[in-house]
Amino acid sequence: MPAKPTTCVIGAGISGLTAGKAFSDWGLPYTCFEASDDIGGNWYFGNPNGRSSAYQSLHIDTSRDGVSFRDMPMGPDEYPDYPHHAQILGYLHRYADAFSLRDRIRFETPVEHAERKPSGGWSIHLGEGSTEEFDFLVVGNGHHWDPRFPDFPGDFDGIVARAPAGTPPDVVAIRTAVPASNGYVTLDNIPCRAWPNSWNRVRASSKESSAGSPAAGLEKLQTLTTIGWMSPESLS
Ligand SMILES: Cc1cc2nc3c(=O)[nH]c(=O)nc-3n(C[C@H](O)[C@H](O)[C@H](O)COP(=O)(O)OP(=O)(O)OC[C@H]3O[C@@H](n4cnc5c(N)ncnc54)[C@H](O)[C@@H]3O)c2cc1C
Repeated sequence: MPAKPTTCVIGAGISGLTAGKAFSDWGLPYTCFEASDDIGGNWYFGNPNGRSSAYQSLHIDTSRDGVSFRDMPMGPDEYPDYPHHAQILGYLHRYADAFSLRDRIRFETPVEHAERKPSGGWSIHLGEGSTEEFDFLVVGNGHHWDPRFPDFPGDFDGIVARAPAGTPPDVVAIRTAVPASNGYVTLDNIPCRAWPNSWNRVRASSKESSAGSPAAGLEKLQTLTTIGWMSPESLS
């Protein structure tokens, strides 16, 4: 019987975990390399890999039922409609444990370089200095840790901040906010990061929101503005 093909999975965030789960379901061998000391990626608040964009008050903005894994849904008795980031991380831990996904993960093992071999397959160069060979490669290394800033013409002497900059919500006193996007995460950040400092104006500038239309994005902002004035306990 021919040997089963081997796969390297980079990252043990949601993408890497679910890829690993699928390989396990099919009985296919794989090895997951994770740079950090644990699973969760972006949802690991304060991740020692320095790459989590989760901020203290973060709740998911896609609903519980929309993001649940089919083979282990988040039950409405255990989770609110829009769980806090700590609940999402807890859910990912439960998922990894339920399907023994940690057995195939090598923590604190960053991939330095993936090199396609002329004969097919991949040479995976690891941070620890060794190289391992695989037939296939799945890259789940995330991208929110690599911010892109727009290059607007003209001068601006205010603070230019990336939305999920990972800073506590109370460090920025916003008087006027000009989000250059109507994306949920951006709009989420304005009230959540500004609270409890007073802020009085938001000028939203965007062609469309991540919800498909500027109107939907602004509706979200309106909702979140209300959230921003709730008690600090509800935001932490
Ligand atoms: C503030 C914020 C809010 C969000 N809210 C939502 C939401 O409500 N709903 C939703 O569906 N999505 C949301 N997202 C999108 C979010 O990116 C996904 O939910 C999810 O975290 C993506 O998972 P991932 O595995 O692709 O990447 P990540 O979670 O970034 O995980 C990548 C993993 O790869 C590891 N890694 C990276 N490079 C290497 C390397 N070279 N070698 C080894 N390991 C490596 C990292 O250590 C990390 O563990 C949000 C994102 C942000 C920033």
